Order: sequence, then structure tokens, then C-alpha cells
Amino acid sequence: MKFDHIETNTIHAGKLIDTRFGALSTPIYQTSTYTFESTAQGGARFSGDEQGYIYGRLGNPTVRELEQRMAALEGTEDAAAMGSGMGAVSATLFALLKAGDHIVASDALYGCTFALLEHKCRDFGIEVTFVDGRNEMAIRSAIQPNTKVIYAETPINPNMVCIDLDMIARVGQSKGITTVIDNTFMSPVLQQPAKHGIDLIIHSATKYLNGHGDVIAGIVCGSQEMIEHIKLTTLKDIGAVMSPHDAWLIIRGLKTLHIRVERHCQNAEVVSEFLEKHPDVGTVFYPGLKSHEGHRLIGTQMKAAGGVIAFEMKGSFENAVAFMDQLKMCKRAVSLGDAETLIQHPASMTHSPYEPEQRRAAGISDTLIRLSVGLEHVDDIIADLEQALNAAYSGIARVG
Ligand SMILES: *Cc1c(COP(=O)(O)O)cnc(C)c1O
Repeated sequence: MKFDHIETNTIHAGKLIDTRFGALSTPIYQTSTYTFESTAQGGARFSGDEQGYIYGRLGNPTVRELEQRMAALEGTEDAAAMGSGMGAVSATLFALLKAGDHIVASDALYGCTFALLEHKCRDFGIEVTFVDGRNEMAIRSAIQPNTKVIYAETPINPNMVCIDLDMIARVGQSKGITTVIDNTFMSPVLQQPAKHGIDLIIHSATKYLNGHGDVIAGIVCGSQEMIEHIKLTTLKDIGAVMSPHDAWLIIRGLKTLHIRVERHCQNAEVVSEFLEKHPDVGTVFYPGLKSHEGHRLIGTQMKAAGGVIAFEMKGSFENAVAFMDQLKMCKRAVSLGDAETLIQHPASMTHSPYEPEQRRAAGISDTLIRLSVGLEHVDDIIADLEQALNAAYSGIARVG
């Protein structure tokens, strides 16, 4: 059953009816394998003559329900659930690419996706070109006869760069190249790449989809043919499967996705305006602000700007660390999309292994802060940020 409104679909679409007991909540089929009534039935399952479950790595009814629910929300024919967001990224890329193939990827990417392309893909003989994903000419001129995939995320760290999905789909379709978009930061409530003609949509379900900070999971949505190909090649044989219990937690999370995301956006908008006006804050990167380059895509591609904000403090690395350490309610943690406001300082946390020059080249200054605005009352979030900003400069010179 599918309805006209995503609010209804997050609750009802893709649900498998439990005809046996009429359970409202999805049953958790916590099983590793499935029994056959006869040897002949086992044979028929393996040959494909009979539909049905065989073994947990090849399918599970609870996980299947999540896949159907996500396909309904993204507006695709099917979906494949994975054990992590990176499981979904790697299974998708390795299903689409082989040695000698070429991928054009946006140069602004989730760190582990960048590492996968830069190191493992190249190790396996896959050619990679990184380009500014906003620039249609740059993408077109990077395309080679062996280009099989165009890969991007929008919006994305560190500067919340936004990429035009209509443009990506147009380039892919004109050249017969598969387009893949990581939609983690938006969720299908705010952005549905398939509507723009994108072929495959990836999520780290760890973030907004689950939304409660207690699961690592991923999913990829697309046509039945592509999803079947991913399942039969990389999911089956590499094996990054999702556990049924995690699928159940995400199904539960999805039921409130639309109201959670709405509040994340409302809170983030107010917080971004507070930050933009604050004298100790430099640039604020949030597509909800008119000053942000991605703002033009709001209302067309994105319903709202989401819950993630990046900003640069004035002063030095030490001021940023002092700010981080003064926070009382906001949690110092990576990840995003949880009820709690999560905050991280890339220069001393995620990007600390890099040399300062490398960080600067990636757009990460010493005072850049990444904030996943939570579901607390916005006044409490702002009060915590404000007291930490006030304390961040006492006794530390404002250099830089
Ligand atoms: C977190 C994240 C991932 C990786 O997901 P995991 O569930 O941590 O494996 C991929 N892409 C984006 C945009 C993310 O934020």
C-alpha cells in the first residue's frame, strides 16, 4: 500500500501484513537459516523454482520489510539493506565496477567513501577521477569511454556543498552511465533523488533513518534489476548483511522520521541564524541560510536544509578546543541525525591524522566545527553553544 503523503508512507508503505497473529509491530525473525519440508523443496528454493527463504545471508523477512519500506519512501522499485552505510557504498560500487572501469566522483565525499575510492578501488584496478560535483563541464570532461559510474553526495561536509541532482542525472543518462547518490544527510523526507532520475540512492541508516544512535546500518535503493544484481554479487558473496534486530529498530525509527526531520530542520534553521549573528563566529555553512550557495536548491530539490551545520569560529585551534570542552549539553561525538545534538571538531578529531596543509586543502580550517542539531528545545541548544562560545576566549589570545 502506498499513499500520496510521505508522512503516511513512513508508517504504512511496504509493511508486510502478519496474517498469522495480526501483530501491529513487525515480527523480528531472529533466525540464521530456514527449514525445508523436504529435500525436493530445498532443491526448488536453490534452483529458484520456488520462492522462499534459504539462509540468513540471502534474505530475512524482517530485513525484507525494511527494504520494501525504504523502496516505497525513495520511490524506487526495490532496495537492499546492509550492515553499515559503508557496506552499502562498497557493495554498490563493487557490483557496478570491475578492473579497467572508471568512476567520476565528487571531490566532496564522506571520508571513508573517499578512502575506498582513493585506495581500495585503485588497488583493484578501478580508475578514479575526482571533480567538483557542482560543475557539469568538469564532470563531462572527466568522462572516458570506460566510465561506468558517477558518484556524489548532497549536501556534504565540510562546507555543506549542494549538487544539482537534475544535472547529475542528465549527464549520466546522456552517456549511459549509472548515477549513484548518497542521500544520508537529507533522508527521503527532504530529498528523493530517484524523482530527479538518479539510478541508485544510498543511505547510512545509522543516521536519520534510525535516528536513535543505537544501530550501524546501510541501504541502497534502485531498480529491481540493479538491486538484484547487487544482492546476488556483492551482498551474497562479500556479505555485509543487516541483522534482523537492527532492521526492526530502523523500521521503528522510520515511523517518526518525518516529524523528527521536520524538527531537526526547524532547530537547525534557528541555530544557524544564531551562529551567523554571533560576533565570535565566522562563516556558517548551512544551505538554509540565504548566504549559502546551496540555498537555490531549497524548494526544488530539497524540501528544507536538514539538520547539519558547519561553522568556523574566530580565533585559533585552541579557541575551538576550549569551546568544545566547555559544552555541557551538546555531546562531543561524530555521527549525525540523532535526538541528541552532536558536535565535533574535525581538526582535532576526524581529520587529526592529516597535516594542517592537507586539512586546509580539504576545506577544513583549525576552527571548523560540525554540528548535528538534535531534537532538544532550540533555546537549550543555543544556550549551551552561547555559554561555550563565551568561555572559549577567556585566557586564550585570539590569534589567526
Ligand atoms: C555515516 C556516513 C556514511 C557511512 O555510514 P556507516 O553507517 O557509518 O557505515 C556514509 N555516507 C555518509 C554521508 C555518512 O554520513
